Amino acid sequence: MSDEVRIHPVVDEGMPPASDDFAGGALVCHCAEHQVVVAVHEQCMHNHVCGCTRCWKPAGALFSMVAVVPRESVSVLAHEEKLEIADEQAAIQRHACRECGVHLFGRIEDTAHPFHGLDFIHPELSRETGWAPPTFAAYVSSIIESGADPQNMANVRARLEELGLEPYDCLSPSLMDAIAIHRAKANGVLGGERAA
Ligand SMILES: [Zn+2]
Ligand SMILES: [Zn+2]
Repeated sequence: MSDEVRIHPVVDEGMPPASDDFAGGALVCHCAEHQVVVAVHEQCMHNHVCGCTRCWKPAGALFSMVAVVPRESVSVLAHEEKLEIADEQAAIQRHACRECGVHLFGRIEDTAHPFHGLDFIHPELSRETGWAPPTFAAYVSSIIESGADPQNMANVRARLEELGLEPYDCLSPSLMDAIAIHRAKANGVLGGERAA
């Protein structure tokens, strides 16, 4: 029953495993011509499916697939002029193609933000295989805000479990810990760098 739930096209098909020596790839937008191309020079980290309303999702998908990479490893190779920030007010500035709407990378400019220094990317935009596959599902309950049937949530969570994607209604424990550690250090509750 739960295998009738479609999470995300790449995840539903079964994503190939990570390659040990994987060194990144080129993210390409969905335009038929003059595509925006963004190079990523590293393997991604914390890949996951996300149910929030802000991440870019392929048409018809319940979840996006999103991962992070150090911002230094991201560079625009072609048609930078087509990129615009989807929402200037959001903490994550999602640089989107103004023609096809695909988000090429999300960047945090606030240096106090726990995830400053990491860019958010959608590995499925690259033709290269070997990206680290998703390992959990974030913001699962939020798919209801995008129109998912609340009555079907048990099936969605069961399908995520079946796929090995532990469902969380925020981020994974390790990322929630990272946020809390960052704040505790900034407040001086934890040793290390104190906020100036
Ligand atoms: Zn495009
Ligand atoms: Zn999201």
